[in-house]
Amino acid sequence: MSEYEALVSAAKDARLNAHAPYSNFRVGAALRATSGRIFGGCNVENATYGLTVCAERVAIFKGISEGERGFDAISVVTDTDSLTPPCGACRQLIWEFCGDVPVILSNMKGKIETIPMRDLFPKPFDASSL
Ligand SMILES: [Zn+2]
Repeated sequence: MSEYEALVSAAKDARLNAHAPYSNFRVGAALRATSGRIFGGCNVENATYGLTVCAERVAIFKGISEGERGFDAISVVTDTDSLTPPCGACRQLIWEFCGDVPVILSNMKGKIETIPMRDLFPKPFDASSL
């Protein structure tokens, strides 16, 4: 049993709520706080496209809005053969709020890969850049 099984399961559950009528690309994410609480997120699309928010950012905003400030892992689940890493905007947000956490990518067939954020986002712009 993976240490991240509950996190991946939460991401799969969140994916069921995806609002993706335009792309039909349903994404689930789950963010684990250092308190142990898990925050799920799904992509929420909009007819203007540009206002769409990714599952990872929904999960982060939920955690932050619930008062959490420390996070130690995030999972992303899609129904694709190739695992789907976070987009560039989400990498920036994950780095800002979570730092160098493991990113657990998975699909509906149970394929799983864990990538450290430092590998996904090797030269970040962050508070130390200001
Ligand atoms: Zn994204």
